[in-house]
Amino acid sequence: MKLLIIGGGAGGPAAASRARRLDEDAHIIMFERGEHVSYGHCGLPYHIGGVIKNRGDLLISTPENFKQVYNVDVRVRSLVKSITPDTKQIEVVDLNTGDSYQEQYDKMILASGASPIKPPLPGIDMEGIFTLRNLTDADRINQFINERKPQKAVVVGGGFIGLEMAENFKNLGIDVTVAEMLDQVMPSMDREMADIIHQVLKLHGVKLQLSDPVAGFQRKDGQIVVNLKSGLELPCDMVMLSIGVRPNLELAKSAGLAVGEVGGIKVDEHMQTSVPDIYSVGDAVETTHLVTGKPVLIPLAGPASRQARIAVNNIYGRNEKYRGTLGTSLVKVFELGIGIVGANEKTLEQHGIKYEKCYLHPFSHVTYFPDSAQMNMKLLFSPDDGRVLGAQVLGTDAIDKRIDTFAAAISAGMSVEDLTHLELGYVPAYGSAREAVNIAGYVASNILNGDMPIEHWDNMDELLESDGVFLDVREKDVIGVGTIPGAKNIPLHELRDRLSELPKDVPLYVYCNVGLESYIATRLLRQHGFDARNMSGGYGIYKCECLGSDADKPAESAAPESRDTAVAAESTSSDKPQTIEQLDACGLQCPGPIMKVKQKMDELQAGSVLEVSASDTGFATDLPAWCRSVGHEILSVEVRDGKIVGRVRKSGPGSQEAVPQAVGESAPQTVPKADLPREKTLVVFSNDMDRIIAAFIIANGSAAMGYKVNMFFTFWGLNVLRKSEKVKIKKPLIERMFTWMMPRGSSKLTLSKMNMGGMGTRMMKAEMRKKNVHSLEELIEMAREQGVRLVACTMTMSIMGIHKEELLDGVEEGGVAAFLEDADHSNVTMFI
Ligand code: FAD
Repeated sequence: MKLLIIGGGAGGPAAASRARRLDEDAHIIMFERGEHVSYGHCGLPYHIGGVIKNRGDLLISTPENFKQVYNVDVRVRSLVKSITPDTKQIEVVDLNTGDSYQEQYDKMILASGASPIKPPLPGIDMEGIFTLRNLTDADRINQFINERKPQKAVVVGGGFIGLEMAENFKNLGIDVTVAEMLDQVMPSMDREMADIIHQVLKLHGVKLQLSDPVAGFQRKDGQIVVNLKSGLELPCDMVMLSIGVRPNLELAKSAGLAVGEVGGIKVDEHMQTSVPDIYSVGDAVETTHLVTGKPVLIPLAGPASRQARIAVNNIYGRNEKYRGTLGTSLVKVFELGIGIVGANEKTLEQHGIKYEKCYLHPFSHVTYFPDSAQMNMKLLFSPDDGRVLGAQVLGTDAIDKRIDTFAAAISAGMSVEDLTHLELGYVPAYGSAREAVNIAGYVASNILNGDMPIEHWDNMDELLESDGVFLDVREKDVIGVGTIPGAKNIPLHELRDRLSELPKDVPLYVYCNVGLESYIATRLLRQHGFDARNMSGGYGIYKCECLGSDADKPAESAAPESRDTAVAAESTSSDKPQTIEQLDACGLQCPGPIMKVKQKMDELQAGSVLEVSASDTGFATDLPAWCRSVGHEILSVEVRDGKIVGRVRKSGPGSQEAVPQAVGESAPQTVPKADLPREKTLVVFSNDMDRIIAAFIIANGSAAMGYKVNMFFTFWGLNVLRKSEKVKIKKPLIERMFTWMMPRGSSKLTLSKMNMGGMGTRMMKAEMRKKNVHSLEELIEMAREQGVRLVACTMTMSIMGIHKEELLDGVEEGGVAAFLEDADHSNVTMFI
C-alpha cells in the first residue's frame, strides 16, 4: 500500500501515525508546503505573548522524529500542485529547488486545512497587517513586535483567535482595540453570554468596537489607520486580522472532488471524498452538525484528529463512521474560561429547531473550599423530549469539565432528565455533591415538568403589555445594583408574611439576581395559588437583554483601567495614608458579595477604605452600581489573580465623597460633601404631560433604588393630582371657573409641544402604548405603590380653588416648610 498524505498540520500527522500503527509495511509519504509539521497551532498566540517562551516547545514532532518512530517519509517545503485521479498521481514542487516530480498513490488523505480569510479591502496588503495560521506567521509577528515595538494594535474579528491575540498583545503592554462587525465577540455563543466576555475584556483595558465592520486600511503619519464602516478611524501600529478561515480547496478542485453546500470538501461518513481512494479530513472538509443534522464547517483540532483516525481505519477496511461534529470548544480570555458545545440559539432558530433555555450559576466546587468560583451556565434543550441541544459555560475555574460532560451527554443523545441521573465525581477541591451538571438537569427538568414555569427577558415587550406584576425578591440592600422600574420588592425572607400584598389574578414575574432566590419564591408562591413565573437568569440577563450591555458604549468610554491608574486615582482622593480593611467575598453567590460589603460598610467609620475580592465576575459591575446608589465612593475595580477586587471608601461626615465612577471610567473627581442623604425631592410646577411623565419616571426609578421620594405639587402641577371624575363641591364662581378651565387629572394633560389641538397628545399616547412605555396613570400608580410621597401645596390649592376632596386619595397637604424640610433631607431637588 502506498499512502500519500497531503498536509502536515493536525490531520495529516494523525493520519500518518495511525496508518503506521495499522500497517507496518505501508509506504507512507507526508507532504507539507511549509517548513514544519505537527506543531501546536493552538499555542501560537501564547508564543507571541511570551507565555510559551521557547519556540521549540511548540514542535510536537519533526520530520526526523516521524522517520525514526513511524518510518514515515516527511517532505517539508513540498507543494502538491495537482492530483490526477485517473492515473492516481500527484505532482509535487520541491520549494527548495523549484523542481517538480510525480508520485503514485494507492490511497490518499487530503488534509490541506484552511487559510485565514483576507477580504479584498483597500490597503489589506499593507505592511503591519498580519494573519496567524502557522509558525511562520508567528515568527513574522514576533519579528515585527521586537523590531518596531508597536504601542497600539487593532484586532479585527472577535473570534477565539482574535481574543487570544488581544490578551497576548495586552500582556506585552500593547494597547488593543478589538473591532468586530457583529454586536458581540465569540459568535458561536449567544449574545447575553458573550457579554460576560465583553466585561472581562474591558476590565483588562481591551477596547471594543462592536457592530462596525472594517471598510479598509490607510497609512497616515507612519501609522496604519483602520477605517470602520461607521466612519470611525482606529490608528494603530499593527493589525491582527482574524475574521475566520476558509477551506483550502485548490487541490480538491484540481482533482474534481465535490464541494459541499457550505463550501468544504464533501465527504461521506467514512471521510471518503466523491473520488475513489481519496479521503479528506480536518478544516478542509464539511461535516454534519450533530444537533442540527446540517452540513457545517467547524475548524477545530479535535475533529481533525479524530477524522484522520477514522479515515485511516476505513482505508484498512474497518468500516468506521464519523458521527458528526458538535463544535465543542474551549477558549481562555485572561482569567475567564469559555466553553461552548452544540447549537446556540441563533443556530437553532436558523434551522427551525424548537428549544427552551435556562440559566444557572453553580460553583466550580463547594464554596467552603478555597478558590471556589461561580460559573455562568446556559443550557439549551428540546421542549418536547428534553434532549440536550447545547450548552455555554463561562467562569474562572473548571468550566472545561462541565462543557465536556455536556458534550458527552449531547453525543449520547441524552435528555435533561438523564443529566439529573449522572453520577459524577465529588471531592471538595473539585466539585460539589450537587454537581453543576446535575443542577442544570434539575433546573431544566423543573421547567419541563411545570414545577417552575419561566419567562424570558427577551420577551419583555409582551410581559410589559400583560397585566402581570414584576416581583423583585432580592434584599433591599442589593437593589442598589439596579432593578426594573415599577417592580414590587418583597425580599424572599419576608414573602410568606406579605402574600396578601400580591394579586392572585395576574401573573407574577419573579426575579432576583441570578434566578435561584426567585426559583424558591416561585415555588412558594405557586403552592399558595399564585401564578408565579421565574424570570430566567435573573436581573443579570435583564441588564443585557433589556438595557443593552456596556459593550454597546464606544471604545473611548472603556479606556484601559490598569491597576496603576486605579491606585493613582485613589491616592488623589485623600492625602492621608489609610489602612485598608480587607473583605473576602469569594465563593459567594450573587448577591452574596454585595450583601457582605453592605454589612462590612455598616461597621466601618466614614472615610474608611474597604478592599473586597469576589469570584463572581458580575461583581465588577454590581459594586460600582451599588456604590452609586448608596453614595459610597468607588475607588477602583480590577482583576487580580482571577478575582474581582474592588476598593470602596465609606461616605459620611468627614469623608471625601467622589463622584461615583463606573468600571473603565477615568479617575474619580472628588467633591467635598457631608453626610449623604437618602431622599430625592421633586417640585412639580408644570401640568404638561411630557414633563409629568419625566417626573414620575425619575420618581419611580429613585424609589426603586431605595430612595425616599417626595413630590411637591404646586400651581399647575396640582392638576396632576386631581381625580378624573367630577367632585361636587360648592365653590365661589371664580374658583369654579378656575377648576373648569384647568385639566381634571392626569388623563386630561397635554403635551408641552406639538399638541396640535390634542392630536399630538393622542399620537404620543398611542406611541407609548406601542413601545410598552407605561402610561402616566400607571406611572402615578406605581409611584404610590412604591411609597412615593405626593404632597399638594396648600397655598396654591387655596389660590386655585382646589379642594382636598378633588385630589387623589392618599395625597398629603403641605406648605413651604414641609417642602423645605424634605429638600433639606435630600441630595437632589428638582424643579419640573
Ligand atoms: P492544518 O493544521 O492547517 O494543516 C493543513 C496543512 O496542509 C498546512 O500545514 C498547509 O501548509 C498544508 N497544505 C495545504 N495545501 C498544501 C499543498 N497543496 N501541499 C502541501 N501542503 C499543503 N483548534 C482547537 O481545537 N483548539 C484551539 O485552541 C485552537 N487554537 C488555534 C489557534 C490558532 C492560532 C490557529 C491558527 C488554529 C487553532 N485551532 C484550534 C484550529 C486548529 O489548529 C485546526 O483546526 C487544525 O490545525 C486543523 O487541522 P488540519 O490538518 O485540517 O489543517
